Formats: sequence, structure tokens, C-alpha cells
Amino acid sequence: MISTRSKNIKPSPTLSMDAKAKEMASKGIDIVNFGVGEPDFDTPEFIKDAAIKALKEGFTKYTPVGGIIELKDAIIQKFEIDNNLKYSRENILVSCGAKHSLYNIAQALYNPGDEVLIPSPYWVSYPDQVLLNDAKPVFIETSEKDNFLLDPDELKSKISNKTKALILNSPSNPTGLTYDRKTLEAIAEIVIRHNIYVISDEIYEKLVYDGVEHVSIASLGEEIKKKTIIVNGLSKSYSMTGWRIGYAAGDKEVIQVMTNIQSQSTSNPNSVAQKAAVAALTGPQDFIKKMIEEFDKRRINLVKRLNSIEGVSCLTPTGAFYAFPNISKLYGRKTPDGKVINSSLEMAIYLLEFGKVALVHGGAFGSDNHIRISYATSMENINKGLDRIKEAIHNLTI
Ligand SMILES: *Cc1c(COP(=O)(O)O)cnc(C)c1O
Repeated sequence: MISTRSKNIKPSPTLSMDAKAKEMASKGIDIVNFGVGEPDFDTPEFIKDAAIKALKEGFTKYTPVGGIIELKDAIIQKFEIDNNLKYSRENILVSCGAKHSLYNIAQALYNPGDEVLIPSPYWVSYPDQVLLNDAKPVFIETSEKDNFLLDPDELKSKISNKTKALILNSPSNPTGLTYDRKTLEAIAEIVIRHNIYVISDEIYEKLVYDGVEHVSIASLGEEIKKKTIIVNGLSKSYSMTGWRIGYAAGDKEVIQVMTNIQSQSTSNPNSVAQKAAVAALTGPQDFIKKMIEEFDKRRINLVKRLNSIEGVSCLTPTGAFYAFPNISKLYGRKTPDGKVINSSLEMAIYLLEFGKVALVHGGAFGSDNHIRISYATSMENINKGLDRIKEAIHNLTI
């Protein structure tokens, strides 16, 4: 019999929609895909060149479990320049993607029955990683009127003597919103007072707009730094999702335990990808600026067009590459074939079947009033897709 633990785990809720979209596409139906969770740009050439060089030089063997020194030093330098944070090599662990870093943290920290606070809407893997480690996800609702930011009073009210950690994600997937310094200071104070950990997922750090400053909660003082484990990676900022390089930074004891866990599971991250990551972090950064400029144009166009659709309202995201429009005003309306739409999943299915647009329903992220639209696709696709969404919604009857 398979374990009880693994029975708690859902397959990624986005998969069935994705399968349906792919099936339609394979029949020759032209689908606009707003479901993607990765940049639509190629990995920059100088990063690929570093990987090719590593391969040619025979850098194809095991490396130290927690990452090569060159890469740890590049990460340490990144933290110093970007976040004004000082770490040593013993504070850094390189893993096979940020998701793997998060999993190592979960294994290192949670005991059965521990509670882990997760502001909702949340990224899909957080609750399942908690469950896989016999701990309990405790959701904290955030509201649209607070820009989906965690209200410190709500946080206080959810802390119990079983609380082990709080997971923060800024810029956020799925909302695209970012935490400001003041809110983070209020959260940090509570975290310190209750002596819990903060797991701060900063994978979209570089993708911010409107002059927003990314603030890492760990940078707010020595005390909060000790309780924070930062997770970051190369996937989103450098368009390197397939290379699988992520990293964690935090207290050396926790990092050591995570490294031990990694030594008994995956061992080191891919050697060649580590060399590519060194090049990415230490090479010219102008590629990111160009990527942000392009995302920014799409973001502004997308949000403007979404808000022009009757019954749809969308906050302006300030980070990542997602918009998270509220579609709940449309609930109760009828599709042309007579089905009533009452959930984000039903809306997503309708938009796929009638609109030929693939996106992710908000329910997958814990918010059934929303849908997630990724703008990691061309402006042409955004315009085509928005024409289709507008038309499909127009065809709903009251
Ligand atoms: C994409 C993503 C990750 C995982 O990134 P990898 O480094 O590719 O594993 C982690 N957190 C969030 C919020 C993401 O969107």
C-alpha cells in the first residue's frame, strides 16, 4: 500500500486544464496560452556559452553537495549588492531549483503536527510540500482591498503554540503584487516575538515595475535575518527554468541540515548548470532590464484591457508576470449552451472551450473569485487572447 502521506497530495491542479488545452491544440485548434509560468525569452547566449565551455572542459562530475564555491560566492555577492545582506558560504545551499530549496526547508523544519502559515492566495506547491512533511498548512486569507498583502493582525490571530513557520512570497505568484517595507516590518516584529521562521520566496525579485523596490524581509535587521530562510533562483530572472538552479540562504544550522538532506536525496545540482549560473549572476545584467521593459508594456496593456471588460476588475500587479483579475461578478451567468458559471474552474473551462484561451483558475491558488493570466507571451498573443476573452464574456447571459 502506498503511504498515507502521499495520499494527501494532489497532482498539480493546473495539469488537467493543461492536458485539455494541449489536446485541443493537437487537433489543430488555435489556443492562446495564458497558463505559462515561465518567461518566454531564451536563456541569454553568454549563459549558454558558459555551459558549453564547462562541458568542453569536462566539468561533468559530482560537485560538492551544496554547490561549487564559485557559485556560492556569486550568490553571496548577489545578496550583498541586491539586498544589502551579508552571508558566508555556510549560510548558502544551492539546489535543483527553488522548488527543491523549499522542499529541503520543509524536510529540515517540520515535525508532525507543526503548523505552517500560508497567506492565501498562494503558490500551488506550498501547501502540498507542508502536507508531504506531515505538517499542517494553515491559510490566512488576504483581501483584494489590501492588495492581497498579509494583514499583521490576521497573522497574529493565526499563530498558535504549534506554529513553526510563515511562508511569504513577494513578488507574488499568482497575484503579481509586492510587499512594501512597512508591512514587512510589522510582520517581522510579530515573527520575532513568537520565534517562528519566515520562509521568504523571492524568486521574482528582479521582476518589479512602477519603480517598486524589492525588499527582502531578512534585510530588516539581525534578529529577523536569523529567523528567515530566503529562497531564490535563476529560473525566472534569467529565463533558466529548465536548468534547475535555485538556492536558499539562512541560519547555518538550518542550512547544514538541509545540505545533509540533499546529500541523501539528489546530491549536487547539475554541474554544468552551476557554471552557467555563475555566469548569469556575475555577467552583464542588461538582459534583465530588457526583459522587464517588455513585460512592463504587456502588463500595462493587459490590465487596461481586462478592466475594460464588463464584470471584470483587476488590480495593477507590481511584480512577476501575472495578472489576477476578479471575475466573481460574472458568477450566475449562463454560457451559450446553458451552463451556469459559478466558480473559477467553470470560468476557466468556458474560456478554454468557447474562447480558445488557456489560463489557470484561481481556485488552484486558494481564491475562487479570480483567474490567473500570465503575460509571459507576446503582445500579439495578449491582444488576440483578450479579444477572445472579451467576446466569450460578452456571450454570457444573465
Ligand atoms: C516558479 C516558482 C518557483 C520555482 O522555481 P524553480 O527554481 O524553477 O524551481 C518557486 N516559487 C514560485 C512562487 C514560483 O513561481
